[in-house]
Amino acid sequence: MSRLRIAEIFGPTIQGEGAVIGVPTVFVRAGGCDYRCSWCDSLHAVDSAFRHEWTPMDADQIMAEVTRLSGGTPITVSLSGGNPAIQDFAPLIALGKADGYGFVMETQGSVAREWFDALDTLILSPKPPSSGEVVDWEIFAECVNATTRKVLKIVIFDETDYAWAREVADRFPDLPLYLQPGNHTPPPPDAEDAEIDMDGIISRYEWLIDKTLGDRWYAPTILPQLHVLVWGNKRGV
Ligand code: SF4
Repeated sequence: MSRLRIAEIFGPTIQGEGAVIGVPTVFVRAGGCDYRCSWCDSLHAVDSAFRHEWTPMDADQIMAEVTRLSGGTPITVSLSGGNPAIQDFAPLIALGKADGYGFVMETQGSVAREWFDALDTLILSPKPPSSGEVVDWEIFAECVNATTRKVLKIVIFDETDYAWAREVADRFPDLPLYLQPGNHTPPPPDAEDAEIDMDGIISRYEWLIDKTLGDRWYAPTILPQLHVLVWGNKRGV
């Protein structure tokens, strides 16, 4: 069985974002990403300088750790990263589902995989202009078409991102859409905990609510990053 690069496995905690916000979850964070967003809050799982901290694990080893953390109760497993889509998580999903675990995954939609259809929810989070990355919409559409159980999540930092989010919503009008303000004080990659501008986080959330409702754009669900409100930049919660 091939091995996966795993940056960390932690939980149970609550899912802090998007469609499954508040749901008790064990996180499996994959190491490695094909993007390098300017405001990435998970650089310890992206930057190859931290590769030595990533553990090669096969599906059995990962599920053994997930099972230990959940006390054997099958709960939701969130595959995050980095970009988990650059590795093959199909065997892990099959193994976990056989024991009753549910799987959600977040990816930017830069790599399409057939096994997306095995997920309970695929969270597609295309990165807005402030990230410095450019979305390949052809590949993104392949990701959208890979499963029926999918939602869109867009992180917004400024007016340009907001206008871009409206264009993306027009491209994919049938997908449930979640908007959230970005964390403009992301942790340094080597920090277990780091200062955060909580007032700024909250005022940016208020700005996004006012902006969206002021435009009478009622389709999106507008959420904060719940884990940031509760734990700030602390890692592994
Ligand atoms: S896609 Fe996600 S994990 Fe990768 S660099 Fe961007 S924010 Fe970080």
